[in-house]
Amino acid sequence: MSLPKIPLAAVIGSPIAHSKSPQIHGHWLSTLGIQGAYIPMDVAPEDLEQVLRTLPKMGFVGANITIPHKEAVMEMVDVITDRAALIGAVNTLTFRADGKIMADNTDGYGFIENLRAGAPSWVPADGPAAVLGAGGAARAVIASLLDAGVPEILLSNRTRVRADRLKSVFGGRVTVYDWVKAGNMLDHAALVVNTTSLGMIGKPALRVPLDGLRPSMVVTDLVYAPLKTKLLETAEEAGCTTVDGLGMLLHQAVPGFERWFGTRPQVDRATRAAALR
Ligand code: NAP
Repeated sequence: MSLPKIPLAAVIGSPIAHSKSPQIHGHWLSTLGIQGAYIPMDVAPEDLEQVLRTLPKMGFVGANITIPHKEAVMEMVDVITDRAALIGAVNTLTFRADGKIMADNTDGYGFIENLRAGAPSWVPADGPAAVLGAGGAARAVIASLLDAGVPEILLSNRTRVRADRLKSVFGGRVTVYDWVKAGNMLDHAALVVNTTSLGMIGKPALRVPLDGLRPSMVVTDLVYAPLKTKLLETAEEAGCTTVDGLGMLLHQAVPGFERWFGTRPQVDRATRAAALR
């Protein structure tokens, strides 16, 4: 009698010790009673391709990909989903039974699911979204907001050329503001998203003027350390609906877990607690 194979998954980056993904997936595996394992792997860029080709032979069914491999890995896979191609980065790999490696990006999905869960009354068509920052995370956020039906993206970034580049990728529904005028975006926005690293522990504060915040607005921050950033604190004081960034991290993990281990996990209080442990 042959025993069933135990499915394995990994998060691959360098460094990787800070990753919360092993806690999240480990929590789901144990609470769902699934025999499987999810481990962190510190892999150098020059070793990545060889590692990816070896993992399926060792029983791995997939992997999350994080810094610094999210873009480079696109050259090493066989199939790329449309949304990963549009975002230009990958965070979830599936090692298919036919030997092919499929690459996806679930960051935008995680962002929208977190927003819908934390601000159930938010209606994308209600008005423009003001997006601060034009890095990798901003690409996923903008792609998912446009896909959800937000009529316009107001975008501002310290380095304007990066924002202009995103406008050229996403087209006419993106309006770029100079960084010194970022506060003006709030006059027209229904949703405000911080995708910069400003406000994170150890990083400078976000100094964009926030006097344009109104109670009807939804404000969310991708930064989740601290959980309640200064932006969210100010927004709460202004009467806005606020959504913290931890939920995005939890929701982006759902599609990978389901594909690899065959069960769709729930994002609930216990999942949040597991990620914060
Ligand atoms: P990234 O590609 O390095 O982009 C960083 C962004 O922050 C850029 O827009 C950059 O502007 C801006 N920035 C950095 N320092 C600044 C400063 N001193 N003044 C003004 N702007 C500054 O990083 P990323 O991958 O997009 O990640 C951005 C943040 O989102 C990080 O804090 C990350 O942890 C968080 N994140 C959270 C989740 C989640 O699941 N919650 C997922 C992804 C990312 P310039 O272009 O001018 O440098």
